[in-house]
Amino acid sequence: MAKAPVAKNQEMTVTIDDLTYEGMGVAKVAHYPLFVEGALPGEEVRVRIVKAEKKYAFARLEEVLVASPDRVAPKAKAYAQTGIAPLQHLAYPAQLAFKQHQVETLYQKAHLTIPVRPTLGMTTPSGYRNKAQIPVRMVNGELTTGFYKRRSHDLLPLEDFYIQDPHIDHAVLVVRDLLRQFQVPAYDEATNSGVIRHIMVRRGYYSKQMMIVLVSRTWVIPHLDELMAGITAALPEVTSLMLNLNDQATNVILGKKTRTLFGQDYLEDQLLGSTFRISPLSFYQVNPTQTEVLYTEAVRAAGLTGQETVIDAYSGIGTISLTMAKHAKQVYGVEVVPEAVKDAQTNARLNGLTNVDFVLGKAEDVMQDWQAQGLTADVLMVDPPRKGLAPSFIAAVGKMLPPKVVYVSCNPATLARDIAALQAFGYRATATQPVDMFPQTTSIESVTVLTR
Ligand code: SAH
Repeated sequence: MAKAPVAKNQEMTVTIDDLTYEGMGVAKVAHYPLFVEGALPGEEVRVRIVKAEKKYAFARLEEVLVASPDRVAPKAKAYAQTGIAPLQHLAYPAQLAFKQHQVETLYQKAHLTIPVRPTLGMTTPSGYRNKAQIPVRMVNGELTTGFYKRRSHDLLPLEDFYIQDPHIDHAVLVVRDLLRQFQVPAYDEATNSGVIRHIMVRRGYYSKQMMIVLVSRTWVIPHLDELMAGITAALPEVTSLMLNLNDQATNVILGKKTRTLFGQDYLEDQLLGSTFRISPLSFYQVNPTQTEVLYTEAVRAAGLTGQETVIDAYSGIGTISLTMAKHAKQVYGVEVVPEAVKDAQTNARLNGLTNVDFVLGKAEDVMQDWQAQGLTADVLMVDPPRKGLAPSFIAAVGKMLPPKVVYVSCNPATLARDIAALQAFGYRATATQPVDMFPQTTSIESVTVLTR
């Protein structure tokens, strides 16, 4: 197409026929896609063109003329503005169908014929997050907590985060009010000055323990003693108060150094009856009840009888490894974050499991080493970050050829790519089971079993 068929500021009425993976409505004007935030498939909407590119345009939703039967009243505008809950206007059953459909569409594009089961959802799809990382900034001369508006670093003040454990929302406000009371300066991004950058809170779903991490540009915090006394007095659940140093001008939230101000240097929680210690820098799934659903699916998919050798790649603090170790002969975990590997080793000990070994390193390197050393596995479990498996990891799988691969994925696009690559080594996926770990958002988690 030579030129956009629409122009900036133009108003028009269109029919929405799809949702993008980011949850935006899509309308077609003579094959030219128009992306409309907040619009749903089947809806007739009046929109105004905001930005017209050669191949697509963004339009603002002005009015819903014919609403989708799946449309529900949004909780608050702020959740759309910040991207905290981009699907809040879509009824929950339709969110689950959307996620299943997204995986199906990606498989079709990759020429994969793998059945995708209906997404396993939550009964109460809100208040689930066990972790928050809340930016602290000055807004109109006052220290403020909230969330950035989408694609910006403008802080929108927010007290109820909707998808977060309400105890965490409350803790953030307690800390905010103490910071205000003692006039502790908020961080200023523009000049990399000021003090408190973020408040990170984790809360154990079963243990009800709470960890608060103050992320600071400086080790020295004015009135720290009063602040600590105030936090522990107001929040008896706090079993760990930590200070994390991040003095860099960066978007990365946590720095590398942490010191304990009060209590333990870890949080403890349970999953499927095992106990886990979690350090501030370690990854831990954010939706505890759905994590149990996910792991149960993964263990079932692995089909363990107690005789198997299992490799758990991207093992984090060992949550999947230990769950599998209860049903397998031997488990080997590999993980790149040193704190997480230490946590995993401690967790094995805490749970009295001696048939599991954790190695620090990049999964792609360690897989190659293991393969070269002649280690084989009956089940290879992978749970990589969004970017999926490295080509060198897949190459090592192609040499080791474990009979079964269980792929836990947080990004169906890289999942489809990796399955296609694994097919070259004779693997076939029998089915994909999406599990909704992130209700109200567009994130899609799933378990897929591949066998040779
Ligand atoms: N299976 C764990 C962790 C999954 S998250 C759980 O369910 O809790 C993915 C993990 O992969 C993170 O702990 C991250 O630190 C780790 N990771 C990221 N890149 C890696 C790599 N190249 N090699 C090994 N681990 C990696």
